[in-house]
Amino acid sequence: MQQKPKGLGKLWRRIRARWLAFKAPGRFLCDSCRYDYRGACNRPERPNATQCDDYEPR
Ligand code: SF4
Repeated sequence: MQQKPKGLGKLWRRIRARWLAFKAPGRFLCDSCRYDYRGACNRPERPNATQCDDYEPR
């Protein structure tokens, strides 16, 4: 199960996800996310998330 990021870690992940969306518009975050497999991510937007607070690059 994923742990919820706290404080600045969560803010940093959000900024990084937005920056990636800006850098590569139309590309899904899940394609490069560490949690893109069953059991690690239960978000309904997987595998086509374009914004995600839990995004973590591989
Ligand atoms: S929905 Fe979010 S946490 Fe889940 S795989 Fe996609 S980017 Fe990662």
